[in-house]
Amino acid sequence: MTLKGNKNEGLKMPVLFIGHGSPMNIISENKFTQNLKKLGKDLPKPKAILVISAHWLTSGTRVLCSKKPSLIYDFYGFPKELYEIDYPSPGLPELATLISKKLESFNVTCDHEWGYDHASWAILKHIYPNADIPVLELSLDYGFNRWNVKPMEYHYQLAKNLTFLREQGVLIIGSGNIVHNLGIIDFNVDAPIMDWAKQLDEIVKKNLLHYNHQNLINFKEMGNVANLGIPTWDHYLPLIYTIALQEKDEPVIFIHEGFQHGSVSMRCIQIGKN
Ligand code: ZN
Repeated sequence: MTLKGNKNEGLKMPVLFIGHGSPMNIISENKFTQNLKKLGKDLPKPKAILVISAHWLTSGTRVLCSKKPSLIYDFYGFPKELYEIDYPSPGLPELATLISKKLESFNVTCDHEWGYDHASWAILKHIYPNADIPVLELSLDYGFNRWNVKPMEYHYQLAKNLTFLREQGVLIIGSGNIVHNLGIIDFNVDAPIMDWAKQLDEIVKKNLLHYNHQNLINFKEMGNVANLGIPTWDHYLPLIYTIALQEKDEPVIFIHEGFQHGSVSMRCIQIGKN
């Protein structure tokens, strides 16, 4: 299957990494949500969107193959209005099936049970509010628990095999957070930034600017700040998928920089030009 009729055919779609942060951003108006809204207007309209989700951890990798995925409200204790929001994008089973076939050697299989978790709809609500573009999700192979998650290098190589989608007008979005330790946050969304969080975010930024993918894969070597800011891999892994899709000469653009709750990096990245 090929996606025809894209006016940008022959051009590569950019790739994104979005730091999604708290579900409160879904109903907030702040610099982050403003930048997401602007992004949706600046980007070429994709034929489909594939979100690599920090909130879908599976054994083996799954791709969402349903025709009409439902919304998952995978957060608790938030205001009622958050649970009433809809994002009725269609799925695109033909494309999802194609992805599963092309990445068979990485044990990528079709899934009909999952829906859109908030790693996708919370950000797409701002980027593409009309929900008129088909959306797929890809899970993260986390083994049976976080102690036997596949190596970073495995995820990086898996993601490289998604490159063909960029040429077919598909927008790939890694959705997580670079610095994310919910055990060390301030409940005030605008709390002062913690030093260690800022340090780690700066190290990652430098490596992104210098195409130092190996340093980003071997993040543990960044020292104690990495132990604090990346205690589990779920929110960092989508970044590895995003950088794996970067060609050597492609620029990295920071769509948004900043923190929420004192330690959650909201850094958002675009690879490739519009
Ligand atoms: Zn999250």
